[in-house]
Amino acid sequence: MTDRYAVVGNPIAHSKSPQIHAQFAQATGADLTYEAVLSPLDGFPACIRGLQAAGYAGVNVTVPFKHEAYRLATVSTIRATRAGAANTLRFDAAGISADNTDGPGLVRDITVNLQRPLQSARLLLMGAGGAAAGVLGPLLDECPAEIVIANRTLARAQELAGRFSSGSANITACSYEALADRRFDVLINATAAGLSDAMPPLPLNWDLGRALAYDMVYGRETPFMAYARTRGAVVADGLGMLVEQAAEAFFFWRGMRPDTAPVIARMRAG
Ligand code: NAP
Repeated sequence: MTDRYAVVGNPIAHSKSPQIHAQFAQATGADLTYEAVLSPLDGFPACIRGLQAAGYAGVNVTVPFKHEAYRLATVSTIRATRAGAANTLRFDAAGISADNTDGPGLVRDITVNLQRPLQSARLLLMGAGGAAAGVLGPLLDECPAEIVIANRTLARAQELAGRFSSGSANITACSYEALADRRFDVLINATAAGLSDAMPPLPLNWDLGRALAYDMVYGRETPFMAYARTRGAVVADGLGMLVEQAAEAFFFWRGMRPDTAPVIARMRAG
């Protein structure tokens, strides 16, 4: 029997997830369909219940529904619970099971694909929205030396740092202006600034050394990537994260992890 999956969001037409999952299905011989579904902004629960009733096996969830998706679930993985948000739902005997694969996707792209260890590294996380909250737990699991969260609205960064700062985690919040004297091994742009060709207000003469400058936005050279490139940093966009989070979702649904390298290469080639 063919298993049915979808990605649900608003807007959704731009999503690359159907292409990625079609390649996973072909590579693993899985009998499945995967489509993009536009949910009304005020009708996400009904949309999900409709897909569940229609016999879908699971869905990915994207902007702006990740928090609502988490609240709809009957069971959640620890990483979805820590994020308070879900990007993957599985319809099963438990009802709706939720996971958040964004963090593992980012960590795998940085540590495996880009070969940058996060253990003992000094990390800067820019942004304090859903994407930042989603990756913070898995980043902390890598035992970095520190994580600094910078955000335009400082109070949101402080709230996020406070929420994750239990135990021995060295996690603090600061404004962009306070970054000039700081040095980091990995800078992660988890803001939506690049989508509107803007970037966080980083110090003008900032020396980035050989840091990795990672932008979660993909499919375009963002102002942050251009900024980091001119300062000697190694630059990456979020395409690898997108494919890795999809592979982790595929595993959550089907217990099998597809090979991601050929998919990333094909997506990059266009
Ligand atoms: P969100 O919840 O709306 O949060 C947006 C964040 O960006 C906030 O921290 C906001 O700061 C900041 N921001 C927006 N415009 C800015 C600007 N011009 N200058 C400085 N900061 C700005 O969005 P999100 O869900 O976290 O998503 C963030 C980005 O991650 C999106 O571009 C999304 O496409 C990307 N993403 C990629 C992947 C992937 O697989 N590659 C996965 C998830 C998300 P304030 O708090 O001050 O408003």
